Amino acid sequence: MSTARLTINLQALASNWRALDAKTDVETAAVVKADGYGLGAGPVSNALAEEGVRKFFVAVAEEGAAVRQAIGPGPQICVFSGHMEGDADLLRAHDLIPLINAPQQFQRHMQALPDHPFGIQLDSGMNRLGLEPADWTDLRPKAEALNPVVVMSHLACADEPDHPMNQQQLKTFREMTDGITAPRSLAATGGTLLGPEFHFELCRPGIGLYGGMPFAGARPVVTVDLPVIQVRALEVGETVGYGNSWAARRPSRIATVAAGYADGLHRAIGGGIDTFAGDQPCPVVGRISMDLITVDVTDLPEDPERLRILNGHQTVDDLAEAAGTIGYEILTSMGRRYSRGYVE
Ligand SMILES: *Cc1c(COP(=O)(O)O)cnc(C)c1O
Repeated sequence: MSTARLTINLQALASNWRALDAKTDVETAAVVKADGYGLGAGPVSNALAEEGVRKFFVAVAEEGAAVRQAIGPGPQICVFSGHMEGDADLLRAHDLIPLINAPQQFQRHMQALPDHPFGIQLDSGMNRLGLEPADWTDLRPKAEALNPVVVMSHLACADEPDHPMNQQQLKTFREMTDGITAPRSLAATGGTLLGPEFHFELCRPGIGLYGGMPFAGARPVVTVDLPVIQVRALEVGETVGYGNSWAARRPSRIATVAAGYADGLHRAIGGGIDTFAGDQPCPVVGRISMDLITVDVTDLPEDPERLRILNGHQTVDDLAEAAGTIGYEILTSMGRRYSRGYVE
């Protein structure tokens, strides 16, 4: 077996959901877009539904169809991109709730699926998705009369608790929605941690469920084990990999390991990360190539059969920091080549 192995701990996932749920007095949904942040929307949604999640969020209708297939009828599945041209059949067939983002989407929904539930997404300042205040003022009486399932908006800076944008968006969201009877939702993971004024009737965390920042208390959900293909001895001065970027300063043993940037170990990671043989760190040396990385295992008593790159010792956020990105991107770029296992 020469493919790297991704192990997803569904108990840790469920426990992260419970921990976030316990931080609020309101209902907690789950965001499972992008194939459950790269971990498999089917198993992830199933585990969360078993844990008691009754509301799921996805980015596009196609993702919603896959989640519905996994969890069956009952729980709500909301679609952030709303009702796009050509979505009506999918929305109806899989009982998906579009979050209406624009007046044209509302018209399209009323024409294609007049009796089908919908939610409303408002732009409270992020300028990415959602109805602008003026459009919402026009639409609100009509939409409100039809009992939207949820009225939501999204925070731009929730991972920075002291950022003034949080209070500004909270104020705007209140101004746009005060007096409405529909349940309201503003908080993703970051907003859930900002405190009760951000919770309204529903929180909708994503990354925190999967073990990523800004939920510092998250349990790690993903373990990545990499098989060692070869181990070789180097003399002082010999170099490793493309560009000769690493040279041995002592007689060294170098393990070549089966995973690379095509598996989400971004080339930009460069040095500065470790793999682990048990608790013993072994530094990644030389450049990360498409299918392979090279690791200094000189300090191990024996050649390892596999090395762990992601686990409790080194988190998705540690890898992200080394790559100059965020944990979200590390998770969602774990490609198709891994063999995947789920621990229940
Ligand atoms: C992705 C997303 C979420 C979840 O955000 P996390 O930071 O992963 O918790 C919530 N709401 C919207 C609109 C999103 O796009």
